[in-house]
Amino acid sequence: MINQDTAPERTDIAIIGAGPGGIFAAYELMKKDPSLKVTVLEAGYSLEKRHCPIDGKKIKTCIGCKVCSIMNGFGGAGAFSDGKYNITNDFGGTLYEYIGREKAIELMQYVDDINMTHGGEGTQLYTTAGTRLRTVCMQNKLQLLEASVRHLGTDKNYVVLQNLFEELKDHIDFHFEDRVESIEKQENGYLIRHAKGTTFCKTCIISVGRSGSKWMEKVCADLGIDTLSNRVDIGVRVELPAEIFAHITDELYEGKIVYRTEKFEDRVRTFCMNPHGIVVNENTNGIITVNGHSFEDDSRKTGNTNFALLVAKHFSEPFKDSNGYGESIARLSNMLGGGVIVQRFGDLERGRRSTEKRIRESTVRPTLAATPGDLSLVLPKRILDGIIEMIHALDKIAPGTANDDTLLYGVEVKFYNMEVRLDSDLETCHKGLYVIGDGSGVTHSLSHASASGIYVADRILEKRAQAE
Ligand SMILES: Cc1cc2nc3c(=O)[nH]c(=O)nc-3n(C[C@H](O)[C@H](O)[C@H](O)COP(=O)(O)OP(=O)(O)OC[C@H]3O[C@@H](n4cnc5c(N)ncnc54)[C@H](O)[C@@H]3O)c2cc1C
Repeated sequence: MINQDTAPERTDIAIIGAGPGGIFAAYELMKKDPSLKVTVLEAGYSLEKRHCPIDGKKIKTCIGCKVCSIMNGFGGAGAFSDGKYNITNDFGGTLYEYIGREKAIELMQYVDDINMTHGGEGTQLYTTAGTRLRTVCMQNKLQLLEASVRHLGTDKNYVVLQNLFEELKDHIDFHFEDRVESIEKQENGYLIRHAKGTTFCKTCIISVGRSGSKWMEKVCADLGIDTLSNRVDIGVRVELPAEIFAHITDELYEGKIVYRTEKFEDRVRTFCMNPHGIVVNENTNGIITVNGHSFEDDSRKTGNTNFALLVAKHFSEPFKDSNGYGESIARLSNMLGGGVIVQRFGDLERGRRSTEKRIRESTVRPTLAATPGDLSLVLPKRILDGIIEMIHALDKIAPGTANDDTLLYGVEVKFYNMEVRLDSDLETCHKGLYVIGDGSGVTHSLSHASASGIYVADRILEKRAQAE
């Protein structure tokens, strides 16, 4: 409940959201100007209070908690993730379009340095530089995207967040379980109404991530900030014996590979590769899609590797709702399969559904209990044709990918936020109001979101210095 009677709390800079974008903005402000009063308003819990009730025994599926501990709270959406920080302009967002390629890489490396001094030291940095695989890909009409990948792993990622919070907590005013409801533009700044009160600030950084996308849309509508529709990625998750991709995953951990289809010249790409991992259900607002994880702990490793194959779709006129399109396809798969559908590649190519018996007799043991079915009844032909072409292209660099027993789970959908119209400072049309991270539609990864936080903090400090 907002108490409207008390005067708003005043702060120099308010940050909405304590995901990587918000954390690194706060960190940079604290380091470069400790005299500033910085307030962070976060809808979710502090790190130690973040617990998902799913224990696999009593509670097996999402029970729709009021505040989701996986997506919300200190550390944001990536707090319990594998912690893969990809240092690259080739994927993970389009930050470079705003700040330049060199600056974007420089900031991602700076973020990596901070992570290394906060518990990440000793973790492996994989790189595509100098790999022979690039040539092999080119020779087979595939493109290996360039990246350095810092793989923190789930445990170290958590430790880094703990250490960052320890350093920040005495300098930054954190408000947890304090969802922001609205932002009002006033003469000299912004009045922020949140669950536990009101705050007035001259400068406001919004960093609300994917979970804040609907709220972000409303803020843009209320304040007259232009938005552009964004894309949706649709496809399947592939599962096969780990040996087939071992030469790629051992060297690179994750190979981001792109294929341009012959039929439609669409781009199909690999995404989120999990060596020795498991395939999992993902529940987005009641729609069940598929995803994948891997574990650091050897005892939890499986004999399979999984990765997504995705095709991007972007609608603009007259239909703009790319996310709605993706949702409809996911709903269709849920209607037919009661959840995620699994199909052997051989069955798909023969135009027949997979059955319990065919899956049971398959040499690849599924790591997710999904419903055997027919993905061709769910995925649009153009997307499915692209995925089949890509599997045959991958078979040339990783023989065995196109085996009959390779499993395909569908559907996998990656939703993106609409893009907020921002200038090269990531500032909206309103002076002092910035939008960073995944909530801006500009980034969709840990490293890009973090780098956008550093960048905006630096720009704000420079402007303050010029104004003095
Ligand atoms: C399971 C999972 C695994 C992932 N693994 C990786 C990976 O290995 N590598 C990678 O690069 N990316 C990964 N990602 C994506 C990555 O987590 C995001 O790109 C990144 O967290 C974006 O950072 P952000 O700060 O922009 O937003 P977020 O991390 O989403 O943080 C936004 C914060 O804002 C808060 N918020 C939202 N609305 C409000 C409001 N109205 N008021 C107050 N607070 C609000 C939310 O509670 C949240 O804590 C993963 C994502 C998930 C879900």
